[in-house]
Amino acid sequence: MSTLRFKAVEEASKRVPVEISVPDKFPSEYFGKYVFNRTQMSKYLSKETMNTVLRAIDQGVTLQREIADHVAAGMKMWAMEMGATHYTHWFQPLTEGTAEKHDSFIDYLNAPGGDIIERFSGKLLAQQEPDASSFPSGGIRNTFEARGYTAWDPSSPAFIIEDTLCIPTVFISYTGEALDYKTPLLKSLSAVDKAAVEVCKLFDPNVKKVYSYLGWEQEYFLVDQALYAARPDLNLTDRTLMGHESAKNQQLEDHYFGSIPPRVAAFMREVEFEAYKYGIPLKTRHNEVAPNQFELAPIYGETNLAVDQNLLIMSLMHKIAAKHHFKLLLHEKPFAGINGSGKHNNWSLGTDTGVGLFTPGKSANENLRFVTFLVNTLMAVYKHNALLKASIMSAQNAHRLGANEAPPAIISVFLGSQISAVLDKIEESSDDNDITMEDLRKMKLGISHIPEVLIDNTDRNRTSPFAFTGNRFEFRAVGSSANCSPAMNALNAAVASQLIEFKNEIDRKMKEGMKKEQAIFDTLRLYIKESKPIRFDGNGYSEAWKEEAKRRGLDCETSVPLIYDAYVSEQSIKMFEGIGVLNERELHARNEVKWETYTKKIQIEARVLGDLSMNHIIPVATQYQSLLLDNLYKMRMVFDKEKADRLSREDAALIEEIATHISAIKTNVDDMVEARKRANKIEDARSKAIAYHDTVEPFLSVIRYHIDKLELIVDNQMWPLPKYRELLFIS
Ligand code: ADP
Ligand code: MG
Repeated sequence: MSTLRFKAVEEASKRVPVEISVPDKFPSEYFGKYVFNRTQMSKYLSKETMNTVLRAIDQGVTLQREIADHVAAGMKMWAMEMGATHYTHWFQPLTEGTAEKHDSFIDYLNAPGGDIIERFSGKLLAQQEPDASSFPSGGIRNTFEARGYTAWDPSSPAFIIEDTLCIPTVFISYTGEALDYKTPLLKSLSAVDKAAVEVCKLFDPNVKKVYSYLGWEQEYFLVDQALYAARPDLNLTDRTLMGHESAKNQQLEDHYFGSIPPRVAAFMREVEFEAYKYGIPLKTRHNEVAPNQFELAPIYGETNLAVDQNLLIMSLMHKIAAKHHFKLLLHEKPFAGINGSGKHNNWSLGTDTGVGLFTPGKSANENLRFVTFLVNTLMAVYKHNALLKASIMSAQNAHRLGANEAPPAIISVFLGSQISAVLDKIEESSDDNDITMEDLRKMKLGISHIPEVLIDNTDRNRTSPFAFTGNRFEFRAVGSSANCSPAMNALNAAVASQLIEFKNEIDRKMKEGMKKEQAIFDTLRLYIKESKPIRFDGNGYSEAWKEEAKRRGLDCETSVPLIYDAYVSEQSIKMFEGIGVLNERELHARNEVKWETYTKKIQIEARVLGDLSMNHIIPVATQYQSLLLDNLYKMRMVFDKEKADRLSREDAALIEEIATHISAIKTNVDDMVEARKRANKIEDARSKAIAYHDTVEPFLSVIRYHIDKLELIVDNQMWPLPKYRELLFIS
């Protein structure tokens, strides 16, 4: 009998919800308790320092070292009063998750050997030089200094985790290239701010700043810790590399929005209590479609902060899950045959005057502004659809996209019938039968119609990777384990670049004497025509759409390493360099990292599957086969040959079936090892990733197929790994 598996099942079935301590205050009373937010700043900083910092946050003004000293002093006092003894620069290298290196506040007062004090200067706040040479840089640091340095990002507030003050920072090389996700994100946010403000001024001269907003919806799975521990594939790759579908999975859709299981509810509540202390405004929690799959979402916020908060919540969730004897799975496709997990990125732009730029207005002027931003976004997504796909692509997400559950590996935009009708009307109008401001006013885009747009959306936008949902776009192709930055960076950069082009066009037309509204209309009409291929309101899961998308010239590439090429296309380089977000060298370096990561992920999966096949599955299958053989043999001793053969026919067939699967597994594992050896000899990161994709990865599903067949044959008592029905239905 497979003892580990049954022990795990027993342990998991006996669990009860973990007691949690419920705060005795309302969330509003302890919200942001661990964050050095504006309220805390006002207590610990002088008015002058505070104002300078706020100017840095709101207007991007550079902070002087002197000010940094003042901020550091205030921050240290607050942190020490909160019990912190250490500080760290908290940054986002091009790996998964975040990085930190803790230093204590202690220092000698004067000379070594003398008295000790707690010290934290502006210099330490502003800059740190972690010996971070093992982080991926795509070759940027090999040629120069091995080290990079981290620098304070005042626009995301510092916070305390346990005994450590965490300071959000960017991570850059000595030669100034970005080595992280945050640096280019901040640049793209600033680019879209500038570009959008210029366009906003066509409609309202008072707009001084445009914010990019992000509201992420985070999907995840929870699996009991004991069962997880009995699955080496989950341990090492975050997904099940084998496992036959459970007889019941999500067919009945009885899990979606169902009542939350008590152990999970306790976990969710604790996550919320913690999140509030970190100023993360969690709003929504519910069961997702697949068994043991769940979702949480906060109220949206400024994109840089929202990205940091998402990273923070992922790490909090891991910790809290462990307390509840769960393992949190953020992998995009941990189980075959049921839905994977994504992270829908709800994205919008809004002004400092409180206007949502994707919110239809009441007046003609407001509606023209709305259509302007909508159409420019369409154009940006159209031109850069390949790049946007590259921005969300990973070895893991490739399993999710294109399956019958998530958007296909083609980027298109869903607008819904109402908005589409508006655009069609503009498109059909011609130069000499202009749409007047009066027409616009009558366009019935008023607020009162939004519910109608939403009703229209809910049913159909599920298959769309980029859907308009009434006052924002929802970029749904982002992976559940991903850092939101690359997606938000590509999107904001593409939109910024498009808005600049639009503004230039309007300026040109107006200089030639055209009226402003006319110039805007004529330009939008052209854009609507040009960007038409990106609009698709139909069923994104259908085969017909793949054909249609190809005809429309949209990017239909499905190989992950080749999808990354879009980052270094002439068009992308021109766009990113044009707005100063990433230069060619950085783009190439980042792709190196992406290709390497892809290769490593597949390599690890291949190794784990090879090991499990040879050391876990084949021995057990052989053992069961021997039992059958033994039985067959003994039958012959009891009955005459003809009768024994007749009675043992089924056993004989099973023995043969097992032999066939074992031999197929063995041959394919050997071939996979050979394929890996050949691929490993390749130097060039891109070619190597392609080799892994084309020649190694296909073995994973072939080998799995035979193992899953064996799972159906081999005695349940002997099967070593927890089965899907156990992983997914015990909670
Ligand atoms: P649904 O499941 O219908 O998509 P949810 O309420 O689960 O909606 O999540 C929607 C997310 O979108 C939330 O994080 C919400 O705060 C966010 N959101 C709402 N309005 C905007 C907006 N204008 N810009 C960005 N995000 C928004
Ligand atoms: Mg949503």
